[in-house]
This record gives sequence, structure tokens and C-alpha cells, in this order.
Amino acid sequence: MKSGKVWLVGAGPGDATLITVKGLHAIRQAEALVYDRLVCAELLAQAPDGCEMINVGKNPNHHLVPQPEINQILVDCAQRGLNVVRLKGGDPYVFGRGGEEAEALALAEIPFEVVPGISSAIGGLAYAGIPVTHRDYASGFHVITGHLRQGNEPQDWATLAKLEGTLVILMGMTQLVTICQQLIAGGKAPTTPAAVVMYASHQQQQVASGTLITLVDQVAAQGLSAPALIVIGDVVRLREILAFTPETLSLSSIPSLMVL
Ligand code: SAH
Repeated sequence: MKSGKVWLVGAGPGDATLITVKGLHAIRQAEALVYDRLVCAELLAQAPDGCEMINVGKNPNHHLVPQPEINQILVDCAQRGLNVVRLKGGDPYVFGRGGEEAEALALAEIPFEVVPGISSAIGGLAYAGIPVTHRDYASGFHVITGHLRQGNEPQDWATLAKLEGTLVILMGMTQLVTICQQLIAGGKAPTTPAAVVMYASHQQQQVASGTLITLVDQVAAQGLSAPALIVIGDVVRLREILAFTPETLSLSSIPSLMVL
């Protein structure tokens, strides 16, 4: 049987209408849709009737489906001749192991296509009123994971403290105390502005902001936890004037696209 194709699609940070035009098209054509925990229901509702919906969502403690199994599900669905959408939060290649999934498909000689998405590391911050760069405050940015593969050395925060520009840390909430302490120990000013953005661009988005010294207490006072972005740098100050209320739009009124 002719193999189906797999579309590795970035869903964007949360707000369903931040998906790309091509990503929405792929979902509407899907015969199997393999999705994560953070992907919103409104996007899933765009899949056609009869599409197989496969939840492989994970949360930090309960790995619902181990990664090799997810890879195998993608290969199996395609080998059954289905057109598969693998819908991932943010951008498929920014953490979240999209690269490993694509490798598995390439090895199995399954045709695939990547549809990039808006990463929470950039778009999620924007929704919190924080521009990741700004000529006056940050001439670059670094996106870092707080959570490394088991058995690896932990991140060297003292070295990361020396970097210029905005630091954006994903999957860092369980390490927040260590991160703030070690960045200060590594030489970052304790008064450096810092924020945590929980559920960026979702309805329930919440932001805690302060400095490297005050952030941990502020986060505890507001009761914030994962999924969240940690952002450190002077751009955080701009939030006071750049925070906005996004318009809520519906995907269902968007017509289907033509395949040329
Ligand atoms: N590929 C994704 C990141 C996957 S790693 C992307 O490009 O955004 C998962 C981590 O991303 C979470 O632990 C959290 O730190 C961050 N994250 C993803 N979506 C988020 C959101 N809407 N709000 C806050 N953090 C988010």
C-alpha cells in the first residue's frame, strides 16, 4: 500500500487563531491527528469527521506515551496509507522533540512536511506585552530549556548569566529558584527585570513580574506553575506599556484552501 504523508504542524502558543494558514489546511485534510496536551480543543475541532484522534499528550510527571511509541504511531498511521497530522504546541522544532519525530519518519522513508508554528518563546511573550528584542534593551535573545535529558549535566546557569540579551527559559518552572539564584551568582544584576508567563495566549494567561530577586515570591503569591515561560532581561519592563487584550476570533468561518 502507498504510504500516507505526515505533516508536522506547529499549533502556535495557544490562541487557536495563531495557527498558520497551511497548518489549518493540513488539519482539515487529516485522516489521523496525533496531538499533545497543550493543543487547544478548537484546533482539534477543525479535523474532519472520521479523522482518527490520537492523544499522546504528556504532562511533566506522567509521560502518557513514551517518545519511541509516538514515533512508531506516526510511522504506523502513515504505513496504513493515512494522511497524518502531528500537531505540536508552538513550533515543531523548538524543543518538544519534533526533530526526533522527523528523523523517525525519514528513517522509515515516510514522506513528510514541516509546517512551522509561532513558538511560545516569541509569540507567547508578545501576548504578555514583552517584545523579545528591542533596540534599546536587547540586541538578541537565547531560548533555553530548563529541563535536560535525564543523565545529562544540568544547565550551566553561571555561564548563561554572562550572555547579553533576553533569556527565555522553557520547561524551567521546577527549577525557578535555582535558575534565579544561579544567574545572580553568575553575575546577573539581582535587579534584572524578570517575569513568568503561564498559559501564554490562552484564555487563562497569567503573568508575574519583578526582578531576579523578587520573581520567586511573586510567582508563589500568584500561584503560577507550568506550563510557563521564564523571561529575564530589560525587555520585561516594556510590559507596563505594551500589554494588550487580544481579540477573540473564530476559525470556523475561514474557508478551505485550494490545492494548486
Ligand atoms: N514547541 C514549543 C515548546 C515545547 S516545550 C514551542 O515552540 O513553544 C514545552 C514548554 O514550552 C512548556 O513547558 C512551557 O515552558 C513552554 N510553553 C509552551 N506553550 C506555552 C504557553 N502557551 N504558555 C507558556 N509556556 C508555554
